[in-house]
Amino acid sequence: MSKSQSVDFRAVKRKVTILQVLEHYDLVSKLHRNGDSLTGTCPIHGGDNKTAFHISISKNRWNCFQCSGNVLDFVAKMEKVSRPKAAHLLVQWFNLSRNLVADRGQSNDPITNSRLRKDITLQAFKEVIIASARRSRVLS
Ligand SMILES: [Zn+2]
Repeated sequence: MSKSQSVDFRAVKRKVTILQVLEHYDLVSKLHRNGDSLTGTCPIHGGDNKTAFHISISKNRWNCFQCSGNVLDFVAKMEKVSRPKAAHLLVQWFNLSRNLVADRGQSNDPITNSRLRKDITLQAFKEVIIASARRSRVLS
């Protein structure tokens, strides 16, 4: 993928749940579920401690005695890759490419679109400020 095809991290984090990622690694059956939590041995650091690894389903986050994070951090650690690379992997595994990669102008994703709109608004706002600053300079 080219650099211009950057993945929207925030959108990936909203689209992919930690449960989906754990299922991808076939880890769900190895963890103990208690309501909103899953606990078990840490798939990243190993060891025998069955409560070392903890997941909050509602927060979509995980932590162990040594580290913590979101879905991106988890994949980055499991695959020993950077977060951008992890984001690309998630896009591939969960078929998110249509919505989240590059081409923001053509995106059908509401998150990406609302962000795009915000960017446009901000840009327009800046232009107005610059224009009015120029005008006042001309007048003074
Ligand atoms: Zn760990």
